[in-house]
Amino acid sequence: MPDVFADLVGQDEAVVELRRAAAAAAAVLRAGVADRAPALVAADPASGDESAPGAVDPSTGMTHAWIFTGPPGSGRSVAARAFAAALQCRHGTGCGQCPGCHTTMGGTHADVRMVVPEGLSIGVGEMRALVLRAASTPSGGRWQVVIIEDADRLTEAAGNALLKAIEEPPPRTVFLLCAPSTHPDDISVTIRSRCRVVPLRQPPAAAVAEVLVRRDGIAPDVAQWAAAAAQGHVGRARRLARDPEARKRREAVLAVPRRLTGVGAAFDAASALIEAAEAEAAASVTEADTAERAALETALGAGGTGRGAAGAMRGAAGQLKELEKRQKSRATRAQRDALDRALVDLAGFYRDALTMALRAPVAPVHTDTAALAGAGAQKWDAEGALRRLEAVLACRAAIEANVKPRIAVEAMMLALWKG
Ligand SMILES: [Zn+2]
Repeated sequence: MPDVFADLVGQDEAVVELRRAAAAAAAVLRAGVADRAPALVAADPASGDESAPGAVDPSTGMTHAWIFTGPPGSGRSVAARAFAAALQCRHGTGCGQCPGCHTTMGGTHADVRMVVPEGLSIGVGEMRALVLRAASTPSGGRWQVVIIEDADRLTEAAGNALLKAIEEPPPRTVFLLCAPSTHPDDISVTIRSRCRVVPLRQPPAAAVAEVLVRRDGIAPDVAQWAAAAAQGHVGRARRLARDPEARKRREAVLAVPRRLTGVGAAFDAASALIEAAEAEAAASVTEADTAERAALETALGAGGTGRGAAGAMRGAAGQLKELEKRQKSRATRAQRDALDRALVDLAGFYRDALTMALRAPVAPVHTDTAALAGAGAQKWDAEGALRRLEAVLACRAAIEANVKPRIAVEAMMLALWKG
């Protein structure tokens, strides 16, 4: 039976650090000193020079606030959840077998709360409620753990509410934040200064392929292909290996370069790319939207015929509107994500053309379009391939900076055609 860190692919250094911290946290509980030493930093003898309460232990041991950083797909939330399990583990190791490990990994542990923002931001109301609940005594007698995925999407007010909790941490509460980086755009400097950072790297393709074979039972050749094509994104690799629709969408994206035969074709390709992203996003959120609306309507008593029903429905209109707003924001996010995945695939193609033009001894990202990339390399040379790669990356940056996706993609397609 693998332990809780088994799915954290290619992150050996981070795992060593987290194991050490979990052991230190278990020692704190054994000694029963947590309630008297809220800052946790005195827990490890190696950190004897630490004295200021609330300060972050720079070396080993346990602390109450963590940030997991790394590129998308590197396993930030996987790492946070595994660490939470190790903290709740009866043996303090993340054995993977005791009830604490099991319920945390299954998402049902009473003292582990996971915030997964669905829209473009996490609001202050949600954060205040969370901080309040996090301050209560852990029912299992170990730790209250709060995991915040996409902590880069905290609103300023929500960030301040969180900061207050991190500055004056309840004795048994641990905050685990996940963000792309510790850049001030992602995490405020003050929150960053109170947290220990665990950097994750893009896992190597071989490590991703190995976990697909071991954990998901995927055939080794398929796993290797998917791991390379996903460029180190574990979740994406699994989807490519298992979902024929995801493979079809990827193929359509990789067909773009050979379709760019003129201005009209470039605009057509832009439309096709945008519409494919919209369709993919719609497919991913429609089911959740319908279920949420039905649940809210039931809760509000829709369909009721009693005297109070009409009045209740008038008050309910505001709540339904609120829900629609949230769902719209989630749909926008899903479209952006889908489009970005397509652009990453496309960038991989031109990167292959570039490395071939340079005769660099590296494996192609997309083995199935390697011949096409090779033809491109001959036609464009390294310089032309680089210009095209840059056009794709510029498109991603523009969309990130809130340029309308259609405009950014059209500009990119024209640049790809003209070279
Ligand atoms: Zn365990």
